[in-house]
Amino acid sequence: PAGETLLEVRGLRAGYGAGAVVRDLDLTVVSGEVVALVGPNGAGKTTTLLTLAGELSPLAGEISFFGDSRPQRLHQRASRGLGLVTEERSVFMRLTTMENLRVGRCDIDYALDLFPELKSKLRMTAGLLSGGEQQMLTLARALSRSPRLLFVDELSLGLAPLAVDRLLTAVRRAADDGLGVLLVEQHVDKVLKLADTAIVLRRGTVEMAAPAAELRERFHEIEASYLQG
Ligand code: ATP
Repeated sequence: PAGETLLEVRGLRAGYGAGAVVRDLDLTVVSGEVVALVGPNGAGKTTTLLTLAGELSPLAGEISFFGDSRPQRLHQRASRGLGLVTEERSVFMRLTTMENLRVGRCDIDYALDLFPELKSKLRMTAGLLSGGEQQMLTLARALSRSPRLLFVDELSLGLAPLAVDRLLTAVRRAADDGLGVLLVEQHVDKVLKLADTAIVLRRGTVEMAAPAAELRERFHEIEASYLQG
């Protein structure tokens, strides 16, 4: 149901042993919502996603996943409905588009409904798709597993603006269909147009957290924080 709390994070401290890279992070993702995590390079966005996914152990803080705050590894969270999409294209290049979609238990029709442009490429080897199409296929594969919560880390890295728009539109539509999304994205201007909430991370702490519409009005402040790194 829309508005169900999927992820609740309080006072997260995360890093790689020696010291904390991320401190005092709070965030909530509910179904039907896109929460954008933005900020300059090195701010700690990927570290946050990896920790929340269960790839890295948190140094402190509480992470409640689908109402369960026990520590869990990625595969446990995945089996409860977490999908994770990272910047490296996770398609099998030698398989066809269709074969890529068939791997695992999948709702292929839903995936193709979100990306109708893949329909004419079903028999094509994925390695021959354009970069944008490969990322569509990556996202389609993740969505076809019917996750309840999806983490997306810079899916649009290096893609042309039109392909970026295409991917972000599909993310928004999936959220409108009930998915909760935590989205790390470099294209801040684009992401503020489609997210419900945005969190600006800088040097490991939350600099701003507000409805995306509000942060659109304060875009110059965000740009300034990017320039300061
Ligand atoms: P980008 O947009 O460049 O991907 P980011 O906001 O995702 O940046 P992170 O990748 O989370 O930032 O990196 C935050 C900090 O953690 C950086 O200072 C980085 O050097 C450090 N870091 C990242 N990975 C490791 C690692 N495996 N071991 C130690 N430190 C790391």
